[in-house]
Amino acid sequence: MTYVITEACAGNKDTACWEACPADAIHPGPKDASFGTHVQLYIDPTECIDCSACEPVCPVEAIYPEDDVPEESHGSIAVNRDFFTARPA
Ligand code: SF4
Repeated sequence: MTYVITEACAGNKDTACWEACPADAIHPGPKDASFGTHVQLYIDPTECIDCSACEPVCPVEAIYPEDDVPEESHGSIAVNRDFFTARPA
């Protein structure tokens, strides 16, 4: 499984989740050159270790375990995954 950042993050981009993640699975980070160009943060499903540290620190409750993503936000599962498959290595 993985955790997923939903569209509630858009426009907020609070980085508490990024700071809390022990697996460096959340991108872009605030020091990344591309940080300002992305509307939200994303979780790499291949790096996430399902520790849940990010979920409670999100001030807008944008983060869910994949299996608990609300129906209206299911598109975010692919959005998070595709962010990393589209990213240059
Ligand atoms: S669940 Fe843990 S490993 Fe996965 S993105 Fe959140 S903090 Fe990082």
